[in-house]
Amino acid sequence: MMLIPLIIVVALFYFIIIKKNSCNCDDGSFSKCNKCGNNIRDDYIYCPKCREKLKKKCEKCGKMIDITWRRCPFCE
Ligand SMILES: [Zn+2]
Ligand SMILES: [Zn+2]
Repeated sequence: MMLIPLIIVVALFYFIIIKKNSCNCDDGSFSKCNKCGNNIRDDYIYCPKCREKLKKKCEKCGKMIDITWRRCPFCE
């Protein structure tokens, strides 16, 4: 009957590894939507959940920049 605790230990380890791999919480490339709090990638233009606009196009260089930025960091 020593097999059951062993299975539990193995299952626990398995869950810990799966959880670690599937969690994007610490991923720096994710940020939160200002409106709904949904996880959004830095290169998203719209929030996929609430369609809040996250990026705007710089009139000078044409790059997509954060909607909250007053000035484009890519050009003068
Ligand atoms: Zn949103
Ligand atoms: Zn620019």
